[in-house]
Order: sequence, then C-alpha cells, then structure tokens
Amino acid sequence: MKTIKVSVVTPDGPVYESDVEMVSTKAQSGELGILPGHIPMVAPLQIGAVRLKNSGKTDFVAVSGGFLEVRPDQVTILAQSAESSSEIDIDRAVRAKQRAEERLHSQKREDVDFRRAELALQRAINRISVAERKI
Ligand code: ATP
Repeated sequence: MKTIKVSVVTPDGPVYESDVEMVSTKAQSGELGILPGHIPMVAPLQIGAVRLKNSGKTDFVAVSGGFLEVRPDQVTILAQSAESSSEIDIDRAVRAKQRAEERLHSQKREDVDFRRAELALQRAINRISVAERKI
C-alpha cells in the first residue's frame, strides 16, 4: 500500500510523526479522509480525533482544532495542543470536564465565559474518548 508522511505539530514540538496509509479527522466542513495522492489543500479542523491507519493498525491523536495542510508528499496538522492516545491523562481530562460543566451550569452567569467553558468541555470530552478509543 502507498503511504504518506504525517506530522502533528504543536507549539511544544512534534507530537506524532509516521508514514500512514490514511489520515481521517473532522474538518470544520465535515469528516475528511486523506489518502496518498490527495490534492494539496488547507482545512481548519474541529476539536476531534485524528485517526492514522497503517498496516492494519490505527493510531489515535486528540487535537484541539488547528489546521491540516496537504502537500504532495506530506500531511501536516498544526494544533495549539495535541496528544497521542497513550499520552492522555484521563483523570486530568475528567477533572477538566467537571470544571467546565460546573461553569456551564453556574447560577452566576455574568462571571462565566461560556464560549471558553464550552471549548474546554469539548477538549476534555475529546481527550477522554481518544484515550478510551471510543471514537
Ligand atoms: P486542563 O484544564 O486540564 O489544562 P485544557 O484543555 O485547558 O485542560 P490545553 O490548554 O488544551 O488544556 O493544553 C495545555 C497543555 O496540557 C497541552 O500541552 C496539552 O497537550 C496538555 N494536556 C491538557 N490536558 C491533557 C490531558 N488530559 N492529558 C495529557 N496532556 C494534556
């Protein structure tokens, strides 16, 4: 099978680098699957999972949005934060989820930045599902 090189990069450095047969993730416009030979493109991503298939195995990386760039020989995902499934601290994500839910359900509405809490909730839910591979 043909493969394409994929890098997931954050401000702290590369999180994932490998040659894969297929990359799939959620762009803002919907589900996106990239195979070797895909036309060059740039797409903004949702908070979501990146699935990387190679030799019958699938690796999972949680990304908090960002951009995907396809070039002829390389796919690059640039994200503010990203973690491979094995690097995710589930307890931390569960705590972040609880904090975000408390903020979203707070009675003191004027003290809460709802958009920020909603995004924190999405990041936490995404990390939990990537760590548990329930995607
Ligand atoms: P928290 O409130 O737990 O910090 P967050 O969603 O606000 O969560 P981010 O700002 O997205 O965190 O990420 C900050 C840094 O912490 C990034 O390097 C990210 O990869 C890492 N990180 C965040 N949550 C986890 C987690 N559950 N397991 C491993 N690394 C994490």
